[in-house]
Amino acid sequence: MKSQEIRSKFLEFFKDKEHKIVDSAPMVIKDDPTLMFTNAGMNQFKEFFLGNTVPKDTRVTDTQKCLRVSGKHNDLEEVGKDTYHHTMFEMLGNWSFGDYFKEEAITWAWEFLTDVCKIDKTSLYVTVFEGSKDADNLEEDAEALALWKNIVPESQILFGNKKDNFWEMGDQGPCGPCSEIHVDIRSAEEKAKVSGASLVNNDHPQVVEIWNLVFMQYNRRANGQLESLPAKHVDTGMGFERLCMVMQNVQSNYDTDVFTPIIREIEAITNNTYGKDEKLDIAIRVIADHIRAVSFSISDGQLPSNTGAGYVIRRILRRAIRYGFTFLDTKEPFMYRLVNVLCDSMGAAFPELKSQKQLIENVIKEEEHSFLKTLDQGLVLLDSIIASAASDTIDGRKAFELYDTFGFPIDLTALILSERGLHLDEKGFEVAMGEQKKRSRSASEISKEDWTVLSSDLEQEFIGYDVLQSNVKLVKYRKV
Ligand code: ATP
Ligand code: MG
Ligand code: MG
Ligand code: MG
Repeated sequence: MKSQEIRSKFLEFFKDKEHKIVDSAPMVIKDDPTLMFTNAGMNQFKEFFLGNTVPKDTRVTDTQKCLRVSGKHNDLEEVGKDTYHHTMFEMLGNWSFGDYFKEEAITWAWEFLTDVCKIDKTSLYVTVFEGSKDADNLEEDAEALALWKNIVPESQILFGNKKDNFWEMGDQGPCGPCSEIHVDIRSAEEKAKVSGASLVNNDHPQVVEIWNLVFMQYNRRANGQLESLPAKHVDTGMGFERLCMVMQNVQSNYDTDVFTPIIREIEAITNNTYGKDEKLDIAIRVIADHIRAVSFSISDGQLPSNTGAGYVIRRILRRAIRYGFTFLDTKEPFMYRLVNVLCDSMGAAFPELKSQKQLIENVIKEEEHSFLKTLDQGLVLLDSIIASAASDTIDGRKAFELYDTFGFPIDLTALILSERGLHLDEKGFEVAMGEQKKRSRSASEISKEDWTVLSSDLEQEFIGYDVLQSNVKLVKYRKV
């Protein structure tokens, strides 16, 4: 089944259960001081859960564009290294705003996965909140447990702690116990060796969480205390790309038709092959993932910039460019050329991508140009810093110079060092940064008419460095 069809099946299933199909909210959030990006399907319904606004429809379903790169949910470091965490992903969801509760949520989730998707019942595991003995002092979720016992053998029901089975939107806001559904897609041979139950929530790439059913019954107040919500709600979220992986019988989200067109295009443009070398594969997955995050962000109105959400997006794009530069030998802008296939495969479900295609391409190309220049020159200097280092810890002050003079991102320096088995003296970097801030503050205090506004962010645009160009021979960066 193609991904398009899987998406529709989900929405149609809940439409048949009297849910209204609604649009995804924008991935970029402009009016909520507590959240920069949508990180779960429920974000756009927060006010309903809090009881501040009365919903028109009490049953709703959609697919939500999510981004998990900052704050409480930050999966950035996993992306590319594993095969099932993305920066941007779609979260399929169904909601009840004070309408149905645990019984329908659990029964329908099971019906969808086993009847509609025909997933083998013995490969599914469900988890139930075990309760907590901390300040919240919560009971186990006996209601969910009893419901699951009606449909799943007890050997497939597991108990989970607060970290995995109590969902909170942030430090404040609606929350409650949840039941997650995990799927074991290992071969029969592997399953016979080790029980799937022991691999749930264990970072196993073939025993993955697909669906989270959250039963919202509390609100966490600013002082940290829980209070009961005026009405109980259901909030579910299922990873669309993971569901596609299961339904398309593949072992990685990147082998589903959500990603293969992008990966084929990366192979064609960079003249590399996916699936031969783990280092190249990681780079290809990072690029395939990040192009989605950046394109969707731009189409939602958030351009890369030096502050706030724009800075987050700039860093994601630069991370992908760097992976390409280092591992795929891309010395020219190339990411913008992936926008076309992305629009072809996702433009029907998300028309905003298609309508903004030209802008997305232009912005990405421009960013690539300027960052490739920075990379080229900064890497030469970093090489010489490494060559003259006395130990395997690189002086934080030198790293600061690199950042300060070239706008060479500090996380990039740290990444390159770690790839070479070296460390960054982070403390030294922070100290140099602090001193620099102090200097510029006092400079602005002395000459008020002629002061420059300094961005409080780490990042500054590269504007060139003549001395390096004339005095230092530019050596090509080696592949590591
Ligand atoms: P995980 O434990 O795998 O990190 P999670 O518990 O953080 O997932 P939830 O907050 O419960 O995820 O989100 C609901 C669903 O969204 C998950 O069951 C999963 O299928 C999907 N999901 C979560 N994070 C990602 C991600 N970074 N990329 C792709 N899908 C994701
Ligand atoms: Mg997670
Ligand atoms: Mg989880
Ligand atoms: Mg979860």
